Amino acid sequence: MSLGWSRRAPVDTLVGTETAIDFTIPLSELPRVSHELIGKDGEASGHVRFSRQMGHAVADLDVRAAPEVVCQRCMLPMRWPVNVKSRIALVSDYDAADRVPDGMEVFLVEADSVSVRDLVDEEVMLALPHVPRHEEGSECAGRQVALPGQEADAEEAAAAQVQKPFAQLGELLKRK
Ligand SMILES: [Zn+2]
Repeated sequence: MSLGWSRRAPVDTLVGTETAIDFTIPLSELPRVSHELIGKDGEASGHVRFSRQMGHAVADLDVRAAPEVVCQRCMLPMRWPVNVKSRIALVSDYDAADRVPDGMEVFLVEADSVSVRDLVDEEVMLALPHVPRHEEGSECAGRQVALPGQEADAEEAAAAQVQKPFAQLGELLKRK
């Protein structure tokens, strides 16, 4: 079964055939992510595999990207490294969402179909910082200004980021 990242396909089919897809998606093609970014160059790449796990339709998604965000302290652009590995339960209603076990994220599927683009957009969106900043104690507050392309600062900042397990469900409830 040949399937591009932009095409919606029925969850049952994706899961039933255990479809696996390698993708490289321009960030400009991710609707919510591109809305948040000033610079829209760059790509999100990775791999997704659909299967059924513990009675749930699941997408195991690996995605890497380095979107450009603006540090809100020094106002210089910085690359925010996204490197996400998640197990996402694809649910069609809130009752099903309640039954998803710990350790799985929840994605609310519309009309029983999903595209890789939908999933990647959501995951990269969740990985973006609300207020991007070079790490506390980095040089950007004071004597030395960080230059675009200095990856080290951004990596340290990402390492310090706290994982919020229910952030996605919160997002999801807000949207409805
Ligand atoms: Zn800064």
